[in-house]
Amino acid sequence: MRLSRRHPRYASLVVRARLAAASRAGLVVPEGLIAQGRGEAFDYLLGERTSRSARSAERAAARWLLAAARPVVSVNGNVAALAADGVARLAAAIPHLTVEVNLFHRTPSRARAVAAALRRAGVRRVLGVAPTARIRGLPSDRALVDAAGILRADVVLVPLEDGDRAAALRARGARVISIDLNPLSRTSLTADLPIVDAVERALPNIAAAARRLGGAPIRGRPPAVDAPALRAAALATIGRRLRAAARAPGPRARRPGRASRPRPRGSGGRSRRRPAPRGRRCRSRPRRRPRAGSARRSPRASR
Ligand code: ATP
Repeated sequence: MRLSRRHPRYASLVVRARLAAASRAGLVVPEGLIAQGRGEAFDYLLGERTSRSARSAERAAARWLLAAARPVVSVNGNVAALAADGVARLAAAIPHLTVEVNLFHRTPSRARAVAAALRRAGVRRVLGVAPTARIRGLPSDRALVDAAGILRADVVLVPLEDGDRAAALRARGARVISIDLNPLSRTSLTADLPIVDAVERALPNIAAAARRLGGAPIRGRPPAVDAPALRAAALATIGRRLRAAARAPGPRARRPGRASRPRPRGSGGRSRRRPAPRGRRCRSRPRRRPRAGSARRSPRASR
């Protein structure tokens, strides 16, 4: 299907078309399409752009990843479909970052498809296609990880995660950076550093911030982050936009009865103007009422 660039929701249609194609190719599961819908709804409320607070969270994420000894970015089907080149850019900007496939709905062929999409985008080394370890206490396939990757990571970047695994990673002592458009999701509520932004925008922003920092590992502790304040800022953005929308004037109301009044029969579709009553003809301007106490008197009053 051809999409017109002039369509007001062109960008969103392109994303949908990309995900639908990825779903047909077996990269994205139908549940992933539903997750995208939830994300889109929040992005709509957030104004479909990176907010100031999200940008500062992305700068902090770059510092956290550069300061980590064993940073990992976890990639699922939606992330590979929407932002494989964002992952590649991030891996290029942070050379010691490990890229690992991690899927809730795992099949060997899907894991291979996600890895292939990442390699096509330029990621050289991809872990997680053949998991070698398991995170204890997690019932889903998200528990299947690589012993050289997520299992020993000290900082994990989890775009489009579920809350259970974010909590399990934290319980293991890893610091969790989330990318999730929903500031109310369990993932956002659990993360040490919640980034409330679209993964397509957030990953390139983090990569750019890491490049500006020189791309080399940073010594010492990364900056502290106020996670509740980041979530509150995202909610405040949504609140401001909703209040502005509630104040915005709607389309001008029609005068009651005008449009719906049936035309008289036999008028041939044209409206017949009734002549104005005598004495009211040809008045182009409304008559002004004299101001109280005004020195000027109307001609009638002088009669
Ligand atoms: P949680 O367990 O954290 O509450 P969830 O059940 O809300 O997660 P999932 O289906 O596991 O949701 O994950 C989808 C999440 O990803 C949703 O919160 C959605 O807002 C978010 N999301 C969807 N598309 C994007 C996107 N393009 N960029 C960032 N976040 C997205």
